[in-house]
Amino acid sequence: MELKEKAKVVITVASLVAVTILFVTEYRRRRQRRKQTSSLSSCYLHSELKPQFCFKRVLADNSYSEFKHLKLVDASSSSLEKPSNGHPYETEITVLLENPQIEFGFLRGECSLEMSDSYVWVETESQLKELAEILAKEQVFAVDTEQHSLRSFLGFTALIQISTHEEDFLVDTIALHDVMSILRPVFSDPNICKVFHGADNDVIWLQRDFHIYVVNMFDTAKACEVLSKPQRSLAYLLETVCGVATNKLLQREDWRQRPLSEEMVRYARTDAHYLLHIADSLTTELKQLATEDSSSPDDRFHFLLEASRRSNMTCLQLYMKETEDFPGSAASSSIIYRHLNGHGDKSNISLNAEELVRKLCAWRDLMGRIHDESTRYVLSDQAIVGLSCKQPTTTEEIYDTIAHIDLATESSPSLSSSVQSPYPVICSHLDDIYKMILDKLAKLDDLLPVVLKKCLGTNGTCPISVFNYSLLVNFKTKLSSHSAPKQNGHKNFKQQFTRKASRELFVKKFSCKAPVYHNCRIYANDGRLLCYCDKRKLEWYLNRGLAKLVEENPPAIMLLFEPKGRPEDEGNDFYIQTKRNICVGCGEGKHYLRYRIIPSCYRVHFPEHLKSHRSHDIVLLCVDCHEVAHAAAERYKKQIATEFGIPLFVRRVLDSKEAQGTSSLVEDESTGDSEDAGVSPLHLRSAAMALLRHGNRMPSSRREELLQTVKMYYGGRDLSEEDLEKALLIGLSPHERRKLERKKGVSFKHSAEVAGMDKQEDENNDGEALADFEKIMTVERSTVVDDSGDGTSEGDGAKELNDTQCNGNTLHQQNSKLSLLGHGPHGKQIVEYLLREHGEDGVRDFCQRWRKVFVDAVHPRHLPGGWNVSHRV
Ligand code: AMP
Ligand code: ZN
Ligand code: MN
Repeated sequence: MELKEKAKVVITVASLVAVTILFVTEYRRRRQRRKQTSSLSSCYLHSELKPQFCFKRVLADNSYSEFKHLKLVDASSSSLEKPSNGHPYETEITVLLENPQIEFGFLRGECSLEMSDSYVWVETESQLKELAEILAKEQVFAVDTEQHSLRSFLGFTALIQISTHEEDFLVDTIALHDVMSILRPVFSDPNICKVFHGADNDVIWLQRDFHIYVVNMFDTAKACEVLSKPQRSLAYLLETVCGVATNKLLQREDWRQRPLSEEMVRYARTDAHYLLHIADSLTTELKQLATEDSSSPDDRFHFLLEASRRSNMTCLQLYMKETEDFPGSAASSSIIYRHLNGHGDKSNISLNAEELVRKLCAWRDLMGRIHDESTRYVLSDQAIVGLSCKQPTTTEEIYDTIAHIDLATESSPSLSSSVQSPYPVICSHLDDIYKMILDKLAKLDDLLPVVLKKCLGTNGTCPISVFNYSLLVNFKTKLSSHSAPKQNGHKNFKQQFTRKASRELFVKKFSCKAPVYHNCRIYANDGRLLCYCDKRKLEWYLNRGLAKLVEENPPAIMLLFEPKGRPEDEGNDFYIQTKRNICVGCGEGKHYLRYRIIPSCYRVHFPEHLKSHRSHDIVLLCVDCHEVAHAAAERYKKQIATEFGIPLFVRRVLDSKEAQGTSSLVEDESTGDSEDAGVSPLHLRSAAMALLRHGNRMPSSRREELLQTVKMYYGGRDLSEEDLEKALLIGLSPHERRKLERKKGVSFKHSAEVAGMDKQEDENNDGEALADFEKIMTVERSTVVDDSGDGTSEGDGAKELNDTQCNGNTLHQQNSKLSLLGHGPHGKQIVEYLLREHGEDGVRDFCQRWRKVFVDAVHPRHLPGGWNVSHRV
């Protein structure tokens, strides 16, 4: 007896020791791993490529904006009465509900239940098209889907299994994500019955990922319901109806993996393969039940109809993103209720902990959205509780706390044992938690903007993707929906933030990729350094045999002829200063744009020889300094306009006689107030365009407003349709006019494109974010405005924005395909006036004024030595 007791104690102690050793080893291992990860200051996503990052477009991104359902362009039905974001096939489904099908023909004669070894793996677009063709000929097919939800914020469909009588198809919805719309028609075809088992989730997942809507469905789970089966699971049906065993644990596998294991393929096929047979068997039961049970012949198909009706009701469901009052609020309330309030104490400690729970939940939610991870993959509920109660004060301690708790509970998603808590999001953003605990990271209300900015803002730590881009853009809508007292602060932030997001992309797209100044040197034939320049200029001289190469790296040439003038002749060493590739304003070296100190609208009208030495008046500026300089220049233009009495925008003053005649521009001489003196070509054109396209549909007040804009141009007289069409051409170059005319020739009604409103063929309702993005892209295409007469000096591929494109605000309204020479006529008159009244000195003084404007606005600290306001050519 005693011996037994002793043995028991020994065994208990031994196992305790063993567990402790295991625990400690594991713990050490993880600590070790942390040492490696925490040294990485930047986000883990820079080195981890997740499968969904190759999706080009996503319908449901991680922003707080509402999910937009498919809009059918087909106007033949009563689409006008449909709710704006309703079910696109509501009508079709309602018809089915009112006239239910009673013959399904799930089985085509005899068919074997056996699952052969062959199946079709569908992974290319052409294979998918083939599949669509096959399915279009079927009366019925079976469907199941597999999702992945751990490494994704909203989850995505990783596989679709489709079975016909003949074959099993496995559709790789990761590889085919962007072209899945190919299957849309067969799924929404009311003449083809789709058999699912427990379709509630599948139906909305298909909507979420592919805008695929199921019309005409038979759900075998609903049939079980109606038949009051003891169980409704597919495993039960497989076993009882088909005598097939299945291991449902496989549904939790990582369905992103490729190739799928044999076991997974088998499991996935099984889920769809037997559905037609099961459906057939269940309908037979339903019909029998009806005959046995019915008191009147009218009820004959009652049960079958009910099963069919319930199935199609499922199809009416609509996918929606979950919404919360505040990010993470649902989770934090639940955690506080379950873990903190239980003790019933309202001490300061617990209040502090509650606040931290809220912060951590909000942070977790945002981090999930930014990195496209599920919240549980960011931080577990238990870890949040642990951190909030313990409040560790060093990053090491924080890390250990999380590791400890998750190891102890190990309810963690054991997706693959190689990745264990703390997950990479925590590892690369541990600092945030540290600051939250030390209360350094703002109040709850300010937390999100700060984190968002840190991750995705300028120089943010994390990559921008199709999942998080509109998180930035839409952040303003999220913030405006709550926390009213802080409205103003948020508003500012929002504006700034939205601009920041665009700016980030803007910088990426526009700034010079290659250094603008190549720091090549040109020597005179007596060995004196003449100037620095770029490679192209060197090549220009070399190719013409006008110079020889005298040094390789960095390259230098010596001219073989005596240049017309030498820099020192003018006592000016500007040209031999090395021009550095940095913003002359603040010194920023990562990105910069060219900036013209003398606005193009004037400079293009200068006499040729005054234009030629331009390099002095073109400087590099970062986007921020560029904006400052540009804004100052725009203000100064207005001042010039007033001073000289030459308005910035001209309007055509036409009396009715003139109306049929010339189309030349005549300035308005009646007013000194340049701003009110006219209408800009852009405004004029967009007003005219809107009136032509939507005139009779828009609210009358808006219509009136637009008409006023156009009328202003036509001197206030009444307008004809022709006037509107003519107005579309104002301010366009001959080339652009021809382009527009050509388009008009095809279909005037579609000339919306001209106004930069390119229609997406298909899902044109994908949210503003993408539209913004694409606008930026189109601006890019039209941005490198070649300045003819530029000589050889600066055609090095560096980007430059024209007058209207460089302002952050105008960027969004930018009418990409119309380059605006809005101030051209004003510039021309100013220069003509200067030359007429003061000769070339007038122009030189004018240039000096602009340099002063530039210096006063930007306070440049990095101008090349020798640059000065009074520089003379
Ligand atoms: P099924 O309808 O059984 O094919 O399941 C479809 C998808 O739903 C799976 O790929 C899983 O992502 C998800 N799923 C269903 N049930 C569970 C569960 N009990 N646990 C985790 N994931 C599940
Ligand atoms: Zn990150
Ligand atoms: Mn399945």
